[in-house]
Amino acid sequence: MIPNLDWQDRAACVGLDSRVFYANGKHAREQVNAARKVCAACPVRIQCAAWAIQTGEKWGVWGGMSQKELRQKRVRDRAPRTSASGKPKRKAPEPAKCGTRSGYQKHLREKTAPCQPCRQANTDADNRLRRTGTTKAAA
Ligand code: SF4
Ligand SMILES: [Zn+2]
Repeated sequence: MIPNLDWQDRAACVGLDSRVFYANGKHAREQVNAARKVCAACPVRIQCAAWAIQTGEKWGVWGGMSQKELRQKRVRDRAPRTSASGKPKRKAPEPAKCGTRSGYQKHLREKTAPCQPCRQANTDADNRLRRTGTTKAAA
């Protein structure tokens, strides 16, 4: 299939010095920012970024993204969201249990009234802190 590249006719960078888009040397950062400014006003920014990602474009600013950002986006897009078993890769953190200091803090975060076990745990931890300088229970 021949890719449709009509969008390039509407590119804001047509006719511009392409060196702006291929930063290097000690002014690279300023160059990238200048390129980004051109892209920010470009009507085909989305198509351009998609094209660069699709074709694995390694150099230069495309669609307002630096080559580093394009690389990171490609890695993210490729990263599997689930493991081979189909289960989500990352485990959700354990919810804070009631009757612990983190349970108490969870109540505060969620603006719910701390329950008795949580209040107790928090008081215990406070007392331990005063006695021992740490909230951790003695081993
Ligand atoms: S987004 Fe930037 S690099 Fe892409 S076509 Fe537009 S001006 Fe050119
Ligand atoms: Zn609780």
